[in-house]
Amino acid sequence: MADRQAKIDLTAFSDSYAQARAKFLEAAGSRVRSYLHPDQKGPGGEALYLDVALLGSPDASRIFAVGCGTHGIEGYPGSAALTHWLRSGGAKRIPDDTAVIFFHAHNPWGFAHKTRVTEENVDLNRNFIDFSRPRPINPGYEEVHRIITPERWNEASVATVFRQLAEFKRLVGEQAFSDAFNGGQYTHRDGVYYGGEREQWSNGAFRRAVGEHFLRAKKICFIDLHTAIGPRYDHIYLCFHPPGSPGYERARKWWGERAVNRQGVTHKAVAVYSGLLIDAFEAILAGAELTTLVVEFGTLAREDVQRAALLQRWLRFHGPQDPERARQLLPEYEEAYYPSEPRWREAVLEQSLEFLDRGVRGVSSW
Ligand SMILES: [Zn+2]
Repeated sequence: MADRQAKIDLTAFSDSYAQARAKFLEAAGSRVRSYLHPDQKGPGGEALYLDVALLGSPDASRIFAVGCGTHGIEGYPGSAALTHWLRSGGAKRIPDDTAVIFFHAHNPWGFAHKTRVTEENVDLNRNFIDFSRPRPINPGYEEVHRIITPERWNEASVATVFRQLAEFKRLVGEQAFSDAFNGGQYTHRDGVYYGGEREQWSNGAFRRAVGEHFLRAKKICFIDLHTAIGPRYDHIYLCFHPPGSPGYERARKWWGERAVNRQGVTHKAVAVYSGLLIDAFEAILAGAELTTLVVEFGTLAREDVQRAALLQRWLRFHGPQDPERARQLLPEYEEAYYPSEPRWREAVLEQSLEFLDRGVRGVSSW
């Protein structure tokens, strides 16, 4: 296996979207299709794209696909993982009748602007719902929103937010709290985990790209890379296939028990999410055999990540009135989703190389 010898090279990580994209495109080679965002730019005026790279046989009946940047800023580690695998000669390790497809920057606006959300403050991973039907109802969010919207961000105001959230959680229980807090809400455009009032550009681009690359394949595995759930220096798997189903059993076979047993997930209750990107992937490719997973690289303890999610909201809606304070707080936000620590980044590259190679082998043995 080439993976053991691959050199850990932290230059796979980038400080800007443009840099990350350039590295990815260079490593991916010539077979890339790019979907240009028609009306948004990065902070330096740069164009924004969803880039889709195809490696291996274009007519393969089996595809191993990986995407990153659904939550914008979380795309930096994901991009580094994909670029590192490509630089390690990953394409040469793809067996016959297998293709690998990488999606770079599902939400390029958030990636470029270093935030989780889209240009409309939408959590793209709650936006893949059917907008022709009434939007999902999240009655618990009303109370969450009242608690989490302080005008000032300081230790006292944050302490009050967390005290009130804890009281709310005691009242409704862990599962209802998770569902209310981050299951997704469709009513408060200045809130958190907001699913939106309409389909985001990134949503349409992703579905178009899936339609253009996957319809001929019969066996498809897709992993959506994220950060901020699980222990620091490790990764965790979120498998949403029902226990015992074929997708679930394949994930277990290829990555082991940890791929399905939520090992390392410290949430006492994982929310019932609405509108996930992998839901859309499964809906488009309902005629194929599928295995889909979310992989998260852990960063901080859960409460610190929640704090960062609330800080993101404050920075967006109150930061412009207090730019000096916003500048001071920005590093705290970025570290929660894209840590700068070298040891953390090494762990991302080392572990992703291994689980990506396992994915390729698993899919080719299917
Ligand atoms: Zn995420």
